[in-house]
Amino acid sequence: MMSFGFMNFKRCLVFLPSFLLIHISLVEELSAMVLADKGQTQFAIVVDDAPLPLEQTAAEELGKYLEKITSAKFPIQKQATGPVIHVGPTRAVQQLLPDVDWAALGTDGIVIRTVGGDLVLAGGRHRGTLFAVYTFLQDFAGCRWWSGDAERVPEQATLVIDALDVIYRPQFDQRVISSSQYGNRVFSLKSRQTIDLEYSFGDHTIDKLLPPDKHFIEHPDWYMYAPDNAFQNDPTTQYTFASMLGGVKSRNLQHYEIAQRTRRIPMAPCLSVPEARRTIGDAVIAQLAEKYPTWKYPPKVVWVTQWDGRQKCSCAKCIAVRATEGSHAALWVTTANEIAERIEDKYPDVLIGTLSYLHTKAPPRTVVPRKNVLIYMAFLDRDHGKPVSDLVPQRDHLAQWSKIASHLWTWDYNTNFRQFVKPHPNYFVQAQSIRAYGQAGVSGMLVQSFHGDASDFTRMRYYVNTQMMWDPTLDEQQLANEFLEGYYGDAAPFLRKYINLMKQTLQRDGGHFLSCYATTTRAWMTLDDMNNATQLFNHALEAVAYDETLSFRVRRARLGIEMVWLERFRELLAESRRAGKPFLGPEDPYALLNQMGRDEIAWQTYRPWRPMSEYVKKMRAVFPSRSGKTPGICQELEAYDWEDVQEHLFESVLDPKIVSVVDDSKASNGKAVRLVGRLKSLQVRTEIPAQLAGRWQVYVVARVQALGTRAGDQTGVAMGVDLRDSPGDAVQEVQSITVDFPAIVDSDYATYDLGVHDLGHGSVIWVKPNGPGAYGDHAGTWVDRIFLVAK
Ligand SMILES: [Zn+2]
Repeated sequence: MMSFGFMNFKRCLVFLPSFLLIHISLVEELSAMVLADKGQTQFAIVVDDAPLPLEQTAAEELGKYLEKITSAKFPIQKQATGPVIHVGPTRAVQQLLPDVDWAALGTDGIVIRTVGGDLVLAGGRHRGTLFAVYTFLQDFAGCRWWSGDAERVPEQATLVIDALDVIYRPQFDQRVISSSQYGNRVFSLKSRQTIDLEYSFGDHTIDKLLPPDKHFIEHPDWYMYAPDNAFQNDPTTQYTFASMLGGVKSRNLQHYEIAQRTRRIPMAPCLSVPEARRTIGDAVIAQLAEKYPTWKYPPKVVWVTQWDGRQKCSCAKCIAVRATEGSHAALWVTTANEIAERIEDKYPDVLIGTLSYLHTKAPPRTVVPRKNVLIYMAFLDRDHGKPVSDLVPQRDHLAQWSKIASHLWTWDYNTNFRQFVKPHPNYFVQAQSIRAYGQAGVSGMLVQSFHGDASDFTRMRYYVNTQMMWDPTLDEQQLANEFLEGYYGDAAPFLRKYINLMKQTLQRDGGHFLSCYATTTRAWMTLDDMNNATQLFNHALEAVAYDETLSFRVRRARLGIEMVWLERFRELLAESRRAGKPFLGPEDPYALLNQMGRDEIAWQTYRPWRPMSEYVKKMRAVFPSRSGKTPGICQELEAYDWEDVQEHLFESVLDPKIVSVVDDSKASNGKAVRLVGRLKSLQVRTEIPAQLAGRWQVYVVARVQALGTRAGDQTGVAMGVDLRDSPGDAVQEVQSITVDFPAIVDSDYATYDLGVHDLGHGSVIWVKPNGPGAYGDHAGTWVDRIFLVAK
């Protein structure tokens, strides 16, 4: 475990980069201050007569944590006669510290200083004082806040601090990590995040500023022109005029008719039209009239931003600007500049924010953002395994924007939007990018990160990155080690090895591109990596077996690897057999899946907006219950060389009244799906999940039973069994068997062989009754199971 002493305080005196340094000096006479002695204190916490809400919170938090540390009660008062901890920039504090330029602290800057026999914890308004308290508790009293439900408070009845003199303003005025921790306001504030913003932290606003419903019919020329070849040189988009037109048609027929005629699409604006820019500006001014009076603190931002996509105008004028300026961003910056000029007299502290994103990534050659324009760079389409400082052209764009923009913010991504839980080994990439943003003079940032409670080391990332946002000169490895030791205890050494293993794995063979939409780890994780990772987690669990809380945290961290085992089970098993290597994957994937489904761990979501139950359901189709008797032809096969699809994995295209799961003693597991009648829609099907892709022999086990007076006379087709594939959108029948009536009436189950096929995602197996009579002519078609034998 980490030891903690007062030696650490000096770190605070050296960690400040020089350009942030407002004032700092080593106090020459280092004299110790005894805040508490053997559980008793002489100090009172003194707040302003009328403190801001966050300053009152600061005093309460300070009292609470000092008591937790020392057991002494620190009273909160408006004034005091004995020694004092001043909390907030009160009049007394301002007199005590005449050298402090309070305005220069902005909203978040802090002052921590010992003066005479007193201690001052204060800062800019409105968050600075609270951040001064948390910084003091963290850096000088040893507290750590790991996550919303885990903290470290070192108990020491006697608390002595040396002379302190810290004045610090963080470089980033906006510091937001959007993640599962974001919703916990108290924890976010402890992490010194600026969560209580008065403006939106950034979105796509053009459809609100220039709403097509209001303007398109009268002014189609205010919107993007789309020739057939508008996107022909852009391999990153699938947009065509036709596809966009289709979108318009589904929304508004009148717009569709105009779009068809004019080739104007009401998605992006044509910013070469002065009236369009003017109208956008009018909307901004209307917004300001409404919002500005409610904004008390900077930054104050109105966003003038493009849609989330690569749609852009390709009229002759816009094309000419792009050619001259080398970037579509010129049009947006010009628009933002015009609006910024219109508002600057009336709203001198408001910034007009615009994006540098997708097709506006590159800065313009000659257009320069006005002094009250904010450029928000968003780094979506890149390798997320590398920091921005290692990527071209992102690194150059950052440097170029930094030269011309008075206000530069970044919007970054530290997650996998397809999968939150599985390994996404860019653990320290964000920290390195934060450092690069700091060096480039970026003054605000947002990171879109992992949601979901079991996401890949989301708490460690949050801890490291919030600390780095506060001070980009810190060492991310040191922060991570501190977190791992604090949060995982004796499991830390193994988890550190695991994290390093994942990093090295991604970087092997010259490095792999890490997409923020990655669906599989196949490109970079081998069977050996999986075995090594599993062993490290086994060791980690053994190391903390004595502690239920720590064990739980390690089990939750292990889920990512378990999901990889499940999703790549057959591939890795086959690899281990082929190469004669160990296979440390789950012995019983079905049991593991059941354990996941019991939701011991609060997963919440496994990808954006998708509940964990959806994942478990999907994977149950891959690892069905082995409750049925093994078919004769599978008796000699190894486990997972055959697969059983039982009735609970069937989907019905159907009315539950006439299709049901019934008890059936003849069925392999005592249950079957019964279809009554012969309607075309009366079918059951099962879709092959992606993880079962491969070469399989397909068998369907079914029977038909006829009843009634005409039972013996039935002729013709009784049942169809189909295998279909849907490459692209076209459904193809691959194999079809029809079963005639006399052959199977009242028979026992028969096994129908559909042959050997390369099954993939989109392959569907159907069973459909097709009797000649109406309802009741035959009492039903029973489907016991579908099974697959690996070939
Ligand atoms: Zn245009």
